[in-house]
Order: sequence, then C-alpha cells, then structure tokens
Amino acid sequence: MDEAIRSALVGALGEAAVLIDEEARNGRRYDQWAVKHLRDWRGEAIAAPGCVVRPATAADVQKIVRIAAERGVPLIPFGLGSGVCGGIEPAPDAILLDLRAMDRVREIDEHNLLASFDAGLNGMLAEEAVAARGLTIGHWPQSIAISSVGGWVSTRASGQFSTAYGNIEDIVYAVEAVLPDGTLVTLGKAPRAAAGPDLRQLLMGAEGTMGVITGVTLRLRRQPERRDFTTFFADDMAQGFEAQRRIVQSGWLPPVMRQYDGREVRRLFRDHDRGGKPMLLMVHEGPGARVEAELAAVSQIAEAAGLSAGDPSVGRTWIEHRNHVPSWRDMFERGIIADTVEISGKWTEITAIYNDAVATLNEVNGVINASAHSSHVYGSGINLYFSFAAHFEDSAKMEATYFECWRRIMEATARHGGGIAHHHGVGRVRKPYLVRDLGEDGIALLRRVKQALDPAGIMNPGNLIPDA
Ligand SMILES: Cc1cc2nc3c(=O)[nH]c(=O)nc-3n(C[C@H](O)[C@H](O)[C@H](O)COP(=O)(O)OP(=O)(O)OC[C@H]3O[C@@H](n4cnc5c(N)ncnc54)[C@H](O)[C@@H]3O)c2cc1C
Repeated sequence: MDEAIRSALVGALGEAAVLIDEEARNGRRYDQWAVKHLRDWRGEAIAAPGCVVRPATAADVQKIVRIAAERGVPLIPFGLGSGVCGGIEPAPDAILLDLRAMDRVREIDEHNLLASFDAGLNGMLAEEAVAARGLTIGHWPQSIAISSVGGWVSTRASGQFSTAYGNIEDIVYAVEAVLPDGTLVTLGKAPRAAAGPDLRQLLMGAEGTMGVITGVTLRLRRQPERRDFTTFFADDMAQGFEAQRRIVQSGWLPPVMRQYDGREVRRLFRDHDRGGKPMLLMVHEGPGARVEAELAAVSQIAEAAGLSAGDPSVGRTWIEHRNHVPSWRDMFERGIIADTVEISGKWTEITAIYNDAVATLNEVNGVINASAHSSHVYGSGINLYFSFAAHFEDSAKMEATYFECWRRIMEATARHGGGIAHHHGVGRVRKPYLVRDLGEDGIALLRRVKQALDPAGIMNPGNLIPDA
C-alpha cells in the first residue's frame, strides 16, 4: 500500500483502525465463494488488499471514502464476508473497508415497529435485540448468524420466511449511505412515499459498487402467537408447484413453503423418504385463529391438487437444523466441488427450468448430484435453489466443472424465460449472465448510473457490472 495513502488513513482514523499486517489483510481476501476457497485450498495465490480499515461511525466512512476518491484508490466494502458470489476480490492497491466495528443497535421503536442498526451489525444480534422486546425482523437468511444487516441490503437478500414477510427490499424502511464522493445520505423517510424515484434502490443490490451503506432501518413485526407445520408429498415437482400456486393465489401465505425434489428428500430427510417423491414442507405462523384457518385451507387445497399428507414434525426438524452447512474445505478434502444456485421463474416456466437444469447438470462429467428445492413463493411464480456436486480424484479438474455447472443452470433458466438470480446476488460468478436479465440496454443503463455516482470507479471495481 502506498505510504501516503496509509498515512492519510491513519491521520483520519488513528493507527488502530488501519491494519496492514499480513493476518488482517489475508483474512479479508475473499468471501464464501466456493472458487476462492478452492483456489486457496489448492495453494494458488490470491491477492490481499493493501490495507484493512475499520471505521466506527458513518463520519469515519466519509473520511475513508474521501481519501480513496481524491487518490482514485479502489475501496471494497466488507460486511461479514458471507457472500457466495465473489463480491470481495481486492487488488493489492485496494483499501478494504471492514464494517465489523460498526455494530450498534441505534434505536428500537416499538410503537412504530422500526429498528435502526449500524450496517456492520451481525444479523442474529439485530434479531436478538428486537426479540428481547417480543418483536422480530422476520428476515431469516440461512446465514443470519454470519452476515450483516448492511450486507443483506447490499445483496438484496431473502430470508427463509419470505413468502409471508417479504424479502429484504420489503423490510427496509431507510438506508443511510456514504456515496462515492463522501456525501452522507439517508434515503427513506415515511411508511410509504410518492416522492420521486425510490433512491434506496440505488444501494439495494449494488454489492458495494454505488456507495457504502452505513446504517439501516428495518420494519419490524410482533412475534407470532402460534406456529404450526404441515407436510405433503407430490407425485412429481410439477404437481407440487401447482399446489403451491393454488395456495398462494387463494390468498394463503404460509411464511415458509419449501418443496424438495426426491433426491433432496433422501439426502436431507432420509427417514421420511416416500420412494423418491417430492415433499412440500410449510410453516404456518400468526394469530391463532388465522393459523387454524390456514391449516384447514392448505390441507384442502393440497389434497385437491393430488398431494398426500405427511408427518408434520418434519417442519420442526427443519427449523432446528436449518442453518447447518458443511464447510467448503471438508468437501474438497472428500474430493467434492459443490455449490447452490438460486433462480426464479413464473409458474408457467418453473417445471421446464427444473427439468432442463437437472438433466443438463447430470450430463456433466464427474457430477454426482443435481437436485433442487423451492423456498420462496410469489403470486406470479417461485424460486428454485439448485444444488450440484461433482467428485474428482484430481482437484485440478474441479474449477472448470464448477463453472460448467453454473453455465448450464444459468442458460437453462434463461432459455425458459426465468430470472438468473433470486437472492445471492451477482458478484463475479453471475456477472457474465447478468445480460440475460437486464438486456444490453439495461446493462448500459446500469453503467450510466454507476458512472454518474462513481465517475472515478473506486467502489468495488470489477464487481457486479459487466465491463463495457
Ligand atoms: C451458509 C450460507 C447461507 C446463506 N444463506 C442465505 C440466505 O438464506 N439468503 C440470502 O439472501 N443469502 C444467503 N447467503 C448469502 C449471504 O449470506 C448474503 O448475501 C448476505 O446478505 C451477505 O452479507 P454479508 O454481511 O456477509 O456481506 P459480504 O459478504 O461482506 O458482502 C457482500 C457484498 O455486499 C457488499 N457489501 C457488504 N456490506 C456492505 C455495505 N455496508 N455497504 C456497501 N456494500 C456492502 C460487499 O462489497 C459485497 O459485494 C448465505 C451464505 C452462506 C455462506
């Protein structure tokens, strides 16, 4: 790192907030993207940032951004590093902006059901702070304990209870951010506004390319009075999707609706396997009377669609174990490269996407698993969360297979009209496919927005936005 830049940072924030030791820099070289873990595990070189800075306040972030802007130095915001698409790829001359020390609960407003947090706060700590008052954010990504509230907004995250409670864009009330010229803005002022374009959206899903989110105000809800579970089995995925369509289009909204294909039932719920049939698991929450009515209604709809009831305790088991995932390294040691890929599609598209993607993945040399479940449901359609795994004796073959599996899922999705990214964001891995969602003109518009906000191109360069 250029000594003049380091001195400027130290002058602005103090010595303790500017880290240049190898341990700090190496610990911030990448996120949870499988490819970077694979390369590191194989001993390949991965660049570290020039320094790591740890702001404590939005004013600190402004100082850092101004130093970077004046000198044209790349700046990479880092929440808690749980992103899975390669959003963190610092060059050796970059400043890595580690938001972990910005971890305050700023305010919990029980009357208006709002809570404000520093952007670097761990999501589980945010949830626990409101839960202590009988409230909930209702946003439960599987990574809740390893991701930050600012990271949620930056990646347009989804929680497991999204079908009723919405995705992060439905939960965000206000966003405080430092723009690439150092200006501090707070966007979002009222429960709803027709005050021009919704500028919060410039930051939502921007993955660090448009500014640094420093604070987030989220809408809250009161904790539900009752929770219950149902489980059903379908003859095939199409029949299960049809049952889900009828349930949500009838106005019922179980917060959790998850439909696993037969392979996933065998892998994740072995004791409940019914000869490889897909399984639909639902969690019902809310006022007791509504839950009671919903249980009766969804059973009737599911059975009318041809599904048969299973053991409702599966849902309880899922709730207890839902956030456990094996580490990348454990898999590499076993000769396995794997990943999960989420997409979405309209009801009329989703079965074709599922069938096509699974079939094409199974043709890839080395693939030992190609499966999917759905987990987020809308009136117009549903998501799919594909899992693939390939086995190789020679780890040198893993990376090419990884990218080939991704390519096949992205193209199968786009071929049938689906959207290539449901909730993990774009990062590096989806960047080549973003055009399938936005079109060339949409990409050009995105570049123009970026150019207007960040003319020097300092904010997370190379991430998300395809090169011109
Ligand atoms: C096991 C596991 C399970 C997961 N489950 C889910 C899930 O259920 N739902 C889901 O949506 N995602 C899930 N994810 C993905 C990930 O947790 C989310 O994308 C999360 O929102 C990232 O938050 P973070 O704080 O870790 O961000 P980081 O990984 O640190 O950063 C992600 C991107 O956002 C940018 N960024 C981070 N903070 C800021 C900020 N304050 N200002 C500007 N830019 C910023 C970074 O530059 C980067 O490009 C999962 C990941 C893992 C590893």
